[in-house]
Amino acid sequence: MTPDEALPYQMAALGLLIGSFLNVCILRLPVGQSVARPASGCPRCGHLLAWWENIPVVSFLALRARCRSCRTSISWQYPIVELITGLLYVGLTLQYGFGWLLYSRVVLVSSMVVLFMISLRHRTLPAPIAQVGIGAGVIFSMFAHPGWSASLLGATLAGSLLVIAFVAARLRRQATPSTGNATLLAMVGAFLGWQGLLVALALTPLVAATLAGARLASPRVSVTFGACLAAATMVAAFADGALLRWAVGHPA
Ligand SMILES: [Zn+2]
Repeated sequence: MTPDEALPYQMAALGLLIGSFLNVCILRLPVGQSVARPASGCPRCGHLLAWWENIPVVSFLALRARCRSCRTSISWQYPIVELITGLLYVGLTLQYGFGWLLYSRVVLVSSMVVLFMISLRHRTLPAPIAQVGIGAGVIFSMFAHPGWSASLLGATLAGSLLVIAFVAARLRRQATPSTGNATLLAMVGAFLGWQGLLVALALTPLVAATLAGARLASPRVSVTFGACLAAATMVAAFADGALLRWAVGHPA
């Protein structure tokens, strides 16, 4: 197997491992706990996981979705997040090949997996991820698509949208929009550029409609703007170029 052929498999393994870490972030960030310490354990009985109980997807299946110590059931969220992260990494590798654009998109979709899950479950977005994300997006864009100028424009466009929404809400004496959503918009703009930001925004209502359908099955799911934008950004991370060419080639 050549290094090029091996890359998607390596990225699949990396995606599963990072997915396992993203689960820790999803669980701990909303409640203000450290993602580094303590080691992972059962939330009910405190049983600390041995290394072989911490293997992405495999351990979940081997333990038959139950804690080895107290038999409490383990959430399906863990293997699903791990699998989806693995699949996203493989997809991005096949799409972009090895290079700065792959690094950039991998960081972007990993952050979006965390923000999507947290927004879905807690109706809030932890500000630090998106704040760090704005800086990371601009830095990656110096080395890869969309370039630093489109990246800065994207972040600025997001800021301007917030100012407009803020002024409009004030004039109509409605609740002002949350800064969490604005920071997330700016992060997406910094990674995808202003063009990719528009693609993600255009996809957001489609995701909202899909999530509204899912909500009929599971009422615990909340259809927040943040969750919809995060999911739309994952799609845009793959297809922003293709969708832009399509939109330009087929003017309405
Ligand atoms: Zn337990």
